[in-house]
Amino acid sequence: MKAKPIINAHMHLLSNYDIPVGFPNKAISKIANTKVGYALLKGILHNANPFKKSDSLDKLLTFVKASRIGSEKELFEDVAKYYPSDTCFVALTMNMHHMGAGRCKRTYYEGLKALDELRDVYPRILPFYMADCRDENMNSFFDHFLLQKAWTGVKAYPPLGTFPQDERYNYVYEKCQELGIPIMAHCTYGSPVHFKGKKKELKKLLGSQYDKKLSKKDNCSKFTNPLNWAIVAKRYPDLKICLAHAGGSEQWKEWLSRPGDKDNLLNEIIEIMREYPNIYTDISFTANKDFAVDVLYTLLTEPKFKFIHNRILFGSDWYMNLTETTEAEWSIGLKRKLGVKLFNKIARENPYKYLNL
Ligand SMILES: [Zn+2]
Repeated sequence: MKAKPIINAHMHLLSNYDIPVGFPNKAISKIANTKVGYALLKGILHNANPFKKSDSLDKLLTFVKASRIGSEKELFEDVAKYYPSDTCFVALTMNMHHMGAGRCKRTYYEGLKALDELRDVYPRILPFYMADCRDENMNSFFDHFLLQKAWTGVKAYPPLGTFPQDERYNYVYEKCQELGIPIMAHCTYGSPVHFKGKKKELKKLLGSQYDKKLSKKDNCSKFTNPLNWAIVAKRYPDLKICLAHAGGSEQWKEWLSRPGDKDNLLNEIIEIMREYPNIYTDISFTANKDFAVDVLYTLLTEPKFKFIHNRILFGSDWYMNLTETTEAEWSIGLKRKLGVKLFNKIARENPYKYLNL
């Protein structure tokens, strides 16, 4: 029997037209977005450490270079090279129009349409539509892309400023549950991608949960808290939700030194998965360095984690991962470190169940 194609269940084809001008940092993005500025930045970064070829600044540069690519086609063809030719890719869109970081170069709809057209050329792209309940078109775009165009799933990015249990999401959740459409939710604390607007606005978004002693970034982690998703899972028991990145590599590192720590985000996610059988997790961005592969290996082989063995998904987080590593480290390196059998489990078995394919 021929093996099923690999599914990379977490990656981005986000063009720079869909990233607000003020993100990640007004000054840097202004410089990086001009030809001269980019060349200058490249010069500075390259000279920062002339003796080391792959230093972190170099990686930052590779990332800046990828994020300057205007076309999702180029981004897709770039990532596809690292995988067998029948590999499928979950392409997660981002709605960054409501995060208080300024305007994007095109509307959200224009970005979605561009991805939809690319999917017509490459049907192995599995697009996810990002729902943000502050967007007045959320439900109508959902109808258009999920129901009419048969896109694959829904992306959620709570630290941009909304709670997953917000009732404005009910229509989306109800439909997703009814039709078996999966949700992919970013789940690490302290994400650099978070609400960037005024403190006053953030206070309004967070309500009683706002803590004036915390930074904006840490306040935004309250939106991310996986317990919010437990509320959603309780309301919609058949809804498939993936808590992406499994808490992030810092939490994984701590997990190795203090395995039983209840406050560890990976442990919190595992506990929620114990309670709710339709909650999944993915390893994108998180599970690449050796120590993290050790954690992943443990999660996939220890009998005490048997209940999550079928719910861990392979994803690389292309091109965000370029700040830390290379795509080859994910497509080839991870397979070697984990072994073909376990790699196939997370890349050729588990995602099929999550995606209802
Ligand atoms: Zn991602």
